[in-house]
Amino acid sequence: MEPKQTRRKFLRNGLLAVTGSSVIVPSIARSTRNGKEETAEQDFVYRTLGKTGIKIPIVSMGTGNTDNPALIRAAMDKGVKLFATSEYYHNGNNEKMLGEVFKDKPRDSFYIMTGTNGGLEIDYKNGLFKSGTNPDTYLESANGCLKRLQVEYVDFFSLGFAARRESVFYEPILKALEKFKQQGKTKYLGIGTHKYEPEAIRAAADTGVFDVVMTAYNFKKNNIDEIEEAIAYAAGKGMGIIAMKTMAGAYWDKERTKPINTKAALKWVLENENIHTTVPDCSSFDQLDQDLNLMGDFKLTEDEKQDLKLTSEGLSTGIYCQQCGKCIPQCQEGLDIPTIMRSYMYAYGYKNMAHAQQTLQSAGVPASACSDCATCTVDCTMGFDVRRKLADINRLRDVPDDFLIRV
Ligand code: SF4
Ligand code: SF4
Repeated sequence: MEPKQTRRKFLRNGLLAVTGSSVIVPSIARSTRNGKEETAEQDFVYRTLGKTGIKIPIVSMGTGNTDNPALIRAAMDKGVKLFATSEYYHNGNNEKMLGEVFKDKPRDSFYIMTGTNGGLEIDYKNGLFKSGTNPDTYLESANGCLKRLQVEYVDFFSLGFAARRESVFYEPILKALEKFKQQGKTKYLGIGTHKYEPEAIRAAADTGVFDVVMTAYNFKKNNIDEIEEAIAYAAGKGMGIIAMKTMAGAYWDKERTKPINTKAALKWVLENENIHTTVPDCSSFDQLDQDLNLMGDFKLTEDEKQDLKLTSEGLSTGIYCQQCGKCIPQCQEGLDIPTIMRSYMYAYGYKNMAHAQQTLQSAGVPASACSDCATCTVDCTMGFDVRRKLADINRLRDVPDDFLIRV
């Protein structure tokens, strides 16, 4: 089944390796991979992260899919500056791993972005904070991020899971964030959004509090026009824009027999100059090299457009859930299907089972989900067989943590 939304017409004026605010800087990159010293010429493209004035390579790194400090060191040696993590990734262990790397590096040689859900009671179905949200606990948890990262401040502290305008403007948390900044514990404030992105992005730009936005942004988004308009609006107001979820699930199928051309997927993102940097989740040295090397030339070829199915009508389903939320009112049990589908993508696309389980648990899915339904009444925008996928991923619900090895 094809999606019902219109799709952005693919045509981005050829490309633009060097236009507008992009600058290519030839640099010497050094790698310690396999214990060897390597020297290589590499073209890095820099853009300015909005009003922060920070010039940053257009390829940064999301660290949620790796627990390998050698990969982080290699990325730093090769010139990556920004590392995006969260307390949410493996219950703070991702931050701890980064902290062990960062403690030996000059503080001005890298930028950190992190955030926490501690103290936040979020209704993931409607994107709003619940009454149990506690700003003091939130700040305590934010201090925990600094401790695990072994730094006195982070560069960007992000309110993750921002969705509705009301939650972005939620005063108790805005005040807590401003306090954190005034205390010198973060240089800048940001939001992270992968649901109701256009609304969250515009709201963040309107608060006057946030400096950067990290948004889900990839070639599979079926509301891409709306997202790009919001991004342009925020960029116009001086916000720095960071793209995440750039690989759109990494595979077209759950069996992982049809990989998405992730190089092409990242190029597609970079063609939008309002995207100042990207944080592709990186889990291998090869992927790191691929991500960095494409900065030299990120014009999509005709073959790559075919690979991404940009020239065919409609979007293919794949395993990437749009997080549109249209399924929620259709579900007889009112399940948080978008969060469940995100868990499915983490499990089958990224093989990050710990993150998949954590996400699944946040959706509060009962073991007996769907058992009272004679037929499933959900008509998913992307044509997912929601009931089947839910039954599949819900097996992860009670698997002991020891068994959740990332592949
Ligand atoms: S499961 Fe389908 S309808 Fe529900 S949020 Fe995802 S894409 Fe939208
Ligand atoms: S079968 Fe479909 S409608 Fe029923 S609870 Fe499951 S997802 Fe919801």
